[in-house]
Amino acid sequence: MNFKEKIIHIKDKILESIFPSYIKCILCGKDIPNFDMPICEDCLNNNIFNNGNRCSICDMQIKEGNIVCDHCKEKKRNFKKCVCPLNYENKVRQALIKFKSDNAKYLAQPFADLIVKRLKEDKINFDIIVPVPSHKKTIKQRGYNPAMLLAENISKLTQKPVKDVLCKNVLTKNQKLLNYQQRQENLQNSIILLNKEEIKDKIVLIVDDVVTTGATLEICASLLKSAKEIYACAVARNQIK
Ligand SMILES: [Zn+2]
Ligand SMILES: [Zn+2]
Repeated sequence: MNFKEKIIHIKDKILESIFPSYIKCILCGKDIPNFDMPICEDCLNNNIFNNGNRCSICDMQIKEGNIVCDHCKEKKRNFKKCVCPLNYENKVRQALIKFKSDNAKYLAQPFADLIVKRLKEDKINFDIIVPVPSHKKTIKQRGYNPAMLLAENISKLTQKPVKDVLCKNVLTKNQKLLNYQQRQENLQNSIILLNKEEIKDKIVLIVDDVVTTGATLEICASLLKSAKEIYACAVARNQIK
């Protein structure tokens, strides 16, 4: 390589790092052309999107013709509506586990992109963004709160401020093996509202990574009662079948 070729080679390397012609699929890691959607065709064809007929409140997939799910019919939710662009299964589930526990912080931005697209589609406007809190011990172990990373990226895309007004002050037992009632009991009193004034008369958007039973969102929303309206969002929704 002569001097000129070397310079061209370096220039190409720099350009490639700023404008890569290939990026990695956020779900499976495969190299794909750098277009709008950072998800490969295989993953796109794998039922990853939370679409079809869904509960108008909690966004869970329900039978055609129904408007709300049995749970929302039975008990009024503390939030007006929740949006979750993806289905919490297979590759989406793996990617979210990576995001939550494997330091894959780079996923926050593409995940936030997908959430903001859904918020726009559903014409949801809000004043402030409130992340679901993590206990400080959990944050110390992971190095970050995934919900906060999502909130910050949603903030960048929407120019709305993040207000970290909820605090998890009791370390709760692992929620995975608990049903809705048990989760609710486990969570009650583990989260507190730090600053009531920040949310007063505001339209709030609560942000979490995954919605499984909706118990966490319910507790958070119940603490934000002085807000004008409460919406919620997460990357993915568990479909209870
Ligand atoms: Zn993929
Ligand atoms: Zn519902």
